[in-house]
Amino acid sequence: MSKPQKPQKLYVKSYGCQMNVYDSRRMADTLAPLGFVETRSADDADLVILNTCHIREKAAEKVYSELGRIRQLKENGAREHRRVVVAVAGCVAQAEGEEIIRRAPVVDIVVGPQSYHRLPDLLARAAHGRIVDTEFPLDDKFDHLAAPTRAATRARGVAAFVTVQEGCDKFCTFCVVPYTRGSEVSRPVAKIVAEVERLADAGVREITLIGQNVNAYHGEGPDGRAWTLGRLLHRLAELPGVARLRYTTSHPRDMDASLIAAHRDLPALVPHLHLPVQSGSDRILAAMNRRHTRADYLKTIDALRRARPDLAFATDFIVGFPGESEDDFRASLGLVDEVGYASAFSFKYSMRPGTPAADMEQLSEDVKAERLARLQAAINRNEAAFIARCRGLTIDVLFEKPGRLPGQLIGRSPYLQPVQVIAPAELIGHLRQVTITDPGTHSLYGELARETPRVAELAATGG
Ligand code: SAM
Ligand code: SF4
Repeated sequence: MSKPQKPQKLYVKSYGCQMNVYDSRRMADTLAPLGFVETRSADDADLVILNTCHIREKAAEKVYSELGRIRQLKENGAREHRRVVVAVAGCVAQAEGEEIIRRAPVVDIVVGPQSYHRLPDLLARAAHGRIVDTEFPLDDKFDHLAAPTRAATRARGVAAFVTVQEGCDKFCTFCVVPYTRGSEVSRPVAKIVAEVERLADAGVREITLIGQNVNAYHGEGPDGRAWTLGRLLHRLAELPGVARLRYTTSHPRDMDASLIAAHRDLPALVPHLHLPVQSGSDRILAAMNRRHTRADYLKTIDALRRARPDLAFATDFIVGFPGESEDDFRASLGLVDEVGYASAFSFKYSMRPGTPAADMEQLSEDVKAERLARLQAAINRNEAAFIARCRGLTIDVLFEKPGRLPGQLIGRSPYLQPVQVIAPAELIGHLRQVTITDPGTHSLYGELARETPRVAELAATGG
């Protein structure tokens, strides 16, 4: 596609997980050299991209209803002699392909998650007719994606995602990811290091490594060997400017010794871990093909707590998986209290065509809804208890932006909660210790703590 005469407006809407947020940004970066500038509203956009999620049925239906609204925008554009191009990207695109164009003829381009680096070419071809590209190309898309400019990186704030791994080989019986994202691929260490260095150089201080099954990471290291996620984290923690590291989402089976040791050895690795369990019942875990038992999971949590005693856990649960009895469900309820999660996502099982669980005997929607409400009550109780325990704690806060009140800044705790503090604007982009004075429902409130003297300073003052 030739460079447009005047800037064109790009609207990207992300559905679902952090992987999609990251992909949406990379799409915008790749289109920027063609003159596309991001806009916050679809109303005046020349190119609308819906970056979709297929994990639950509702997610796909939301996309079709949004496409109904966008058809109106396209018609408005045509009346003003303005062509509005509509693209559907992501996992719905991968799973449904041509079907999207059949159900929603407003769509010009359907592009799967492994092909979006080809967007400039697809846009040029879309001038002559509709395009569907849902291949798994052999070339590495990351090699073809434009890097964001320094200004774009700065505008996105002090925390950034970096994809280190894609796809999944676990084949949990409820999940579409192995079909929509393909088999596991890890990026080489050198490319990840280069991306993190570039982000840190532009002022990013917190890096979240992401992947559908991130702790199965096995990218090629500079020594030609496959590195584990634990080893990668050690390397990234050495980079100047990197103050905080996180990773998500992990599978309990892939929590190996090097990763557990990273939690013990790396102060930059936050004391917060999202470790999805899905169910507390061994019978259901086996039917889900999770490849771990409740006892295995609890053993892993125990080993992690021994490595890093202040580690807080988050998780995902599915309720109403085919064949789940009241006793199975109670085992999940019991696990919420046994682990004492800081937070948890919980979902009603959603039947995904083509997955093994879709052929199993299904529970009624009423049973699923009733169990979800009971599970969420237990989760909320644990979350409230966790938040209440934050009162009086002194924790690291990474300051991100000005708050709503004069002189106030908003930062983030290691546990992902927003923290509101009266603090000077120069602290944006810095980690500071904050004492929590008031743990609110959605934010924590605190004050800057007196800096704790370092050991060397203590020695110098005889302390
Ligand atoms: N890889 C991660 C793991 O091993 O748990 C999860 C990734 S998945 C994108 C995010 C969450 O969506 C899962 O943890 C699961 O709880 C939920 N999920 C996936 N498939 C689902 C389905 N068919 N119905 C309901 N929830 C589902
Ligand atoms: Fe899906 Fe996660 Fe299971 Fe992979 S490990 S199949 S992404 S739930």
